[in-house]
Amino acid sequence: MKPEIAVLGNVWPDAALSALALEFTCHVIGRMAPAERARFFEGAARQVRAVLTSGTVGIDAATAARFPGLEIVAVHGVGLDAVDLPAMAARGIVVTNTPDVLTEDVADLAVSLLLAASRRLPQLDRYVRAGHWPEKRPLLPSRSLRGKTAGIYGYGRIGQAVAGRLRGFGIDIRYFQRSEGPEPRRRSASLRELAAASDYLVVCTPGGPDTRHAVDAAVLEALGPEGILVNIARGSVVDEAALIEALSSGRLGAAALDVFEDEPHVPAALCALDNTVLSPHVGSLTVEARLAMRTLCFDNLRAHFAGRPLLSPVFA
Ligand code: NAP
Repeated sequence: MKPEIAVLGNVWPDAALSALALEFTCHVIGRMAPAERARFFEGAARQVRAVLTSGTVGIDAATAARFPGLEIVAVHGVGLDAVDLPAMAARGIVVTNTPDVLTEDVADLAVSLLLAASRRLPQLDRYVRAGHWPEKRPLLPSRSLRGKTAGIYGYGRIGQAVAGRLRGFGIDIRYFQRSEGPEPRRRSASLRELAAASDYLVVCTPGGPDTRHAVDAAVLEALGPEGILVNIARGSVVDEAALIEALSSGRLGAAALDVFEDEPHVPAALCALDNTVLSPHVGSLTVEARLAMRTLCFDNLRAHFAGRPLLSPVFA
């Protein structure tokens, strides 16, 4: 008999679900009508041994409790802030995620956002489309990247991949995280000190309670009126109200954001500002990264049900 799996979230294309269905009996919760979903939770949910979920949907203790036979949660993504890890550990449920396979593409997006904000690409695009060029409307020059300093908040896999790319632009790197990290002489003593020493602040930490609103009004103030904030991590890390205030008052130069506090809702104030570049949480949305993430999720499930070691356990 094929193991039964519940799929949460909406990141699985039809072809991937069909491939999954060859090896597992899949219950795709998001595609069930309300009555079907109610029947599922009263009956078949008891047979579910695995949950597949996305990094943003995750799984909380109450949802997990609806699957009394749950053995493994496979997260499609690297962020685990939406997964109640203590609740899973308490029940002996193993959790896997998809680190490494998305690192390079997320770092590419972070750098793209920084370049777009620094060279004011969205503004220039709007300028051309609006026909301002033949009108000879004046254009402000942007700032060179060369010689600037980027502060990386969270110098892990993605943070270091961002740094490697930025060094190629002649940008100096500093970072802050709790542990010393691989280049201690480049580590600032605090996030505020990092922001004060940097022209750009690139947020690459996990989300969750430990980093909530760590980028607050004081950090933005330290980054300064020429400073650029890039966030590809989680919206919760940045105090969005303080960010809007800093951008509106000119106390921060610009912000380039892939993630937001209340996704998919982006504050109208951020959309209305001219000094923002916004993308809809698409750091890993490349054909290659998504295929690799799905493959890693599948392979973790296969390994679990075959009694082999997991490929990327968060804890086992
Ligand atoms: P990682 O390798 O675990 O790196 C995270 C880094 O953050 C570590 O170096 C860690 O160092 C630091 N950190 C953790 N907690 C911290 C804290 N409280 N204060 C300061 N630093 C802290 O993770 P990764 O693979 O680079 O991924 C980072 C995050 O990017 C993920 O958690 C996810 O939320 C986000 N992400 C977003 C997208 C997207 O589509 N936009 C895609 C993938 C990932 P210490 O433990 O020493 O502090």
